[in-house]
Amino acid sequence: MADDAGRRKAAARRGAQPAHGQGAAHSSESAHGPGTALTLERGWQYAPAPESRDIVTIDPEYGLFVAGEFVPAKSGKTFATVNPATEEPLTKVALAGKADVDRAVAVARNAYESTWGTMQGSERAKYLYRIARILQERSREFAVLESIDNGKPIKETRDVDIPLAAAHFFYYAGWADKLDYAGFGPDPRPIGVAGQVIPWNFPLLMAAWKLAPALAAGNTCVLKPAETTPLSALLLAEVCQEAELPPGVVNVLTGAGETGAAVVAHPGVGKVAFTGSTEVGIAIAQAVAGTGKKLTLELGGKAANVVFDDAPVDQAIEGIVNGIFFNQGHVCCAGSRLLVQESVADHVVERLRNRLTTLRLGDPLDKNTDIGAINSRQQLDKITELSAAGEAEGAQRWSPPCELPKKGYWFAPTVFTGVSQSHRIAREEIFGPVLSVLTFRTPDEAVTKANNTPYGLSAGVWTEKGSRILWMAQRMRAGVVWANTYNRFDPASPFGGYRESGFGREGGRHGLGAYLDV
Ligand code: NDP
Repeated sequence: MADDAGRRKAAARRGAQPAHGQGAAHSSESAHGPGTALTLERGWQYAPAPESRDIVTIDPEYGLFVAGEFVPAKSGKTFATVNPATEEPLTKVALAGKADVDRAVAVARNAYESTWGTMQGSERAKYLYRIARILQERSREFAVLESIDNGKPIKETRDVDIPLAAAHFFYYAGWADKLDYAGFGPDPRPIGVAGQVIPWNFPLLMAAWKLAPALAAGNTCVLKPAETTPLSALLLAEVCQEAELPPGVVNVLTGAGETGAAVVAHPGVGKVAFTGSTEVGIAIAQAVAGTGKKLTLELGGKAANVVFDDAPVDQAIEGIVNGIFFNQGHVCCAGSRLLVQESVADHVVERLRNRLTTLRLGDPLDKNTDIGAINSRQQLDKITELSAAGEAEGAQRWSPPCELPKKGYWFAPTVFTGVSQSHRIAREEIFGPVLSVLTFRTPDEAVTKANNTPYGLSAGVWTEKGSRILWMAQRMRAGVVWANTYNRFDPASPFGGYRESGFGREGGRHGLGAYLDV
């Protein structure tokens, strides 16, 4: 474990005063009684198993991270971030404006020219390894903080978000001194300053996806986290201090969409990387067009998870649940359209419903929780509106018996059957725990329906026939096709989409190419 002295040192460097800290009383049961789980029907409950919040220190206010220090926004403006599970305000965060973007880009440029861009790859690797190790050492702190700020269950932050974020830094640390052998020519050069805008669904993991390859390739970064989830990126900035990363190599500008737009449009930025909605992705593509900036866009999805009649049903049910209810369905590659072969459709839907009655919804910090809070009021409204449209258009709506907590933003896992391809719930990204079930008779029909979407990010196929897996994978227009599994990620594996899901690849060797002048 990282020693407490190191953490206190880092906190002292940014002049922090703890608001919620050691010894502070936090009752997770006050807002989420044990009755919030879906297991009510069975007549017995899991005992609450809340993770302690004490490991996390949330300061009353956070500055921007520029030139290795936390500084207030030039305008002095701040905004609040809240715990979506309780609506409790957590802290205030600086709102970066254009002047702050100007400064951060200038500082990043200077760091690129004076240190990072000219440093030996083997030296850069040492910093990345250091960041990865500190992330591992402080993983529990990150897991709790991410859960509080985002609403996702602690078992997901603990077992997925944080380990994968560390794995990305480890993986790209390994590339930093091997760029000459990565297949991009004998002496691939970095681009300069990367402007990176990330969403709220995997806040730390998306920061790692963006920063690790950029830094390994020798670029410096200006990162804009999402407005509703800025805290783990700010803790990562503290990790950069602890790792003694040269000042200005990583800069974190908190703010809203306007801050992101200013980062993207800044003439000093040579590479733009964005993950988020297709709508904003289009606006960014327009802003960047004709500037010569390199661009990667990782946008929305409406993936088909295709289940054939010979699929191993138990595993397929787990894959369907993981595909759409993992992270409350706030997943760009979520398997939000279940395409199930007609001959087994009733059986699969019945088994799925049974499985959903065992999921536990409630306190994200409870280690038993499967489904946490929706990230924001705005997102809850969108899910509610699209689900209502599903009913209005004639699909049959079903949710397991489920009592939602009184405070916070919550949505019960929902399954729509009788969905046709023209329904909005079959076409639009809901980005919530809502599954649309469609059926097919033949493999050709499965492919046609799977590809009947403007998106092309991911897909799943469930069958015992290896030849059918390959046949389907060749025909489904998706950047990632999972076979007999779903939502599996690895830093060595490239990820990205076609069509309205964006372009460019993140992860693996391909992810390096996006940050090199090749
Ligand atoms: P956005 O695409 O608006 O947000 C993603 C990031 O971009 C955030 O950091 C946001 O800042 C920033 N941003 C917003 N406007 C601009 C702009 N004009 N220029 C540059 N950056 C900008 O997603 P939302 O949070 O609004 O979610 C809306 C929908 O998008 C969701 O319902 C979901 O369907 C989809 N979505 C898809 C994601 C994916 O991974 N594919 C991720 C997130 C959302 P800020 O947060 O401060 O507004």
